[in-house]
Amino acid sequence: ATDRDTVERLLRDVPDFPEPGIRFWDLTPVLADAEGLAATTRLLSAPAAAGVDAEVDVVVGIEARGFLLGAAVAQALGLGIVPVRKQGKLPAVAASRSYDLEYGSATLELPADVLAPGARVLLVDDVLATGGTAGAASELVEQCGARVVAFSVVLELPALHGRDRLGERAVHAVLER
Ligand code: IMP
Repeated sequence: ATDRDTVERLLRDVPDFPEPGIRFWDLTPVLADAEGLAATTRLLSAPAAAGVDAEVDVVVGIEARGFLLGAAVAQALGLGIVPVRKQGKLPAVAASRSYDLEYGSATLELPADVLAPGARVLLVDDVLATGGTAGAASELVEQCGARVVAFSVVLELPALHGRDRLGERAVHAVLER
């Protein structure tokens, strides 16, 4: 089986979570499986698969599943990882960005003093839905003078047009649903 087959086989969808009528894509079984984690890590980090020619200096992972995936990707690429966190978790913040959710809004923060100006970033998360999260994370990175070389995600939900929120930035999705 290919790496993509492995991920597809282990991916699970949960109806009516977190609300009635919403289908939740759950990567827990993918990450819990040794081959699933290895396959996912290879797919997310393969620069050719990501359409990335440029070198990457650092991985940025989005809370919370982006931490799990991002750390594995960073290790595979021989790089470090910087977390983009939900508001109020970081002792020192370089930049902060709010974005709209279906109900209300959310704020993401980037830690101070870890992302060098000019750094080439591979942004990692599990799911691209409306693109609000990845868009805000990208803007945070750029606000610090770094550059998003690509956004690497396991699953894209194209019906929600998340790519539109990411402009010209390169998006690499392993699977679509
Ligand atoms: P967006 O901001 O609407 O693109 O939503 C993406 C964020 O919400 C990501 O950080 C995901 O972890 C989370 N998310 C949205 N939909 C799902 C899903 O079906 N399964 C798992 N996570 C999801």
